[in-house]
Amino acid sequence: MRIRRITAYRVELPLHEGTYKWSGGKSVSVFDSTIVAVETDEGLVGHGEVCPLGPFYLPAYAAGARAGIAELGPHLIGEDPLQLGRLNQRMDAALQGHAYVKSAIDIACWDILGQAAGHPVCILLGGRYGEDFVLYRAISQEAPEAMARRVTGYRAEGYRRFQLKVGGDPLEDIERIRQVAAELKPGDRLVADANTGWLMHDALRVVRAVRDIDVYIEQPCKSYEECLTVRRHCDHPFVLDEVIDSMTPLLRGHTDRAMDVVNIKISKFGGLTRARQARDLCVSLGIAMTIEDSWGGDITTAAIAHLAHSTPTDMLFTSTDFNSYVTVSTAEGAPQRQGGRMSASTAPGLGVKPRMDVLGKPVVIVE
Ligand code: MG
Repeated sequence: MRIRRITAYRVELPLHEGTYKWSGGKSVSVFDSTIVAVETDEGLVGHGEVCPLGPFYLPAYAAGARAGIAELGPHLIGEDPLQLGRLNQRMDAALQGHAYVKSAIDIACWDILGQAAGHPVCILLGGRYGEDFVLYRAISQEAPEAMARRVTGYRAEGYRRFQLKVGGDPLEDIERIRQVAAELKPGDRLVADANTGWLMHDALRVVRAVRDIDVYIEQPCKSYEECLTVRRHCDHPFVLDEVIDSMTPLLRGHTDRAMDVVNIKISKFGGLTRARQARDLCVSLGIAMTIEDSWGGDITTAAIAHLAHSTPTDMLFTSTDFNSYVTVSTAEGAPQRQGGRMSASTAPGLGVKPRMDVLGKPVVIVE
């Protein structure tokens, strides 16, 4: 089987809540997502998606994804999409770095592999663990009372895990954590995600002030070294996210005992092939995981669901259902959350069929 054509589409994804806000005053109202179709000479078509969290979160931006796909595409025409290891090696040889550019192409080729094999991607990624898996709800940064109200509302919808966007003024962040914690019931889990937003001294004040609260602390500071310093002065369970983007920092973090949980975003690692490698390593090392992506719609959510559902249940800390945050559906067959849980499709491949009327005209065509 050979890749015959690669096309990319640009889709805008507005939010039900209007705006998503996190540390440092960063916010997005309409996400700029890129959907990729990889067509083969045997008629199979696979789809993938990449959607950075704006241009100021990770070193990734939406127009860069499309420029990168146009750059990489000609190197992939004629390649076999079923041989994922070789395909990734080819992408790395043609374009240094830029993991997020490669992600949507890799996901689309997993979709093709699943369709060709007649199995859902989760089976090919290791198997389906349980009936469904657990989700968290991200709580956009607002005043403490407003965040507490959001948690109460999402709790009523069935979510039991909540990730607060903190990383702002430390005194206000302490209030955010306290007021939300007061809303929780036994069995709920709370994560305070600073998204690199605190300096070390502020992070140390926050973790000391909430020592009596059962809360996970996620990525308090920008660098790995700063996070490790906070970790060593903190007795909360600790999550690393932005600084863990490949095997090297993951192994270093394990050696230093720098985290209890890691956040594996598919595009941060460069696609399902590399995210699965990290997932399997974490399973072997006993490191629990949040499995998700930076953002996305139906196709990203489908890819997340296959990786999350194929992860041993006790190793999956949480996952995300981005397609329930946004107002636009880009594909039929995408997984839909039931309360605070979700399951991967049982159809071959990702199990999604793009809505071509929503995708519109392609913005990149390589053949
Ligand atoms: Mg995070």
